[in-house]
Amino acid sequence: MPSGCLVPGCTEKSRLGQSVSFHGLPVKDAQRCKLWLRAINNPRVGEDTGKEIIKGKTICSLHFKLEDFDGRLFGKIRSALKPTAVPSTVIDRTKHLIHSMGL
Ligand SMILES: [Zn+2]
Repeated sequence: MPSGCLVPGCTEKSRLGQSVSFHGLPVKDAQRCKLWLRAINNPRVGEDTGKEIIKGKTICSLHFKLEDFDGRLFGKIRSALKPTAVPSTVIDRTKHLIHSMGL
């Protein structure tokens, strides 16, 4: 199954050589997982959706703020989220554009 972003309206897909990273839902941390699902606001997945279904689902890095990532990796591939990071529903279109233009 191709991995994509779980956020409605987001069309990011994992592609080779792009700067967007994908992050799996924190299924092991039920409390945090709820926060993520609430933030994502996807009608297909909710707080009551089973772990088996949301396991393996990913959210792209566009929904996280820069400070949600581990600062030690700043300037490198932003792949490590802080344990407290929760996605934001706002899709920054400008950021999207920059990403798609490869800048
Ligand atoms: Zn996304």
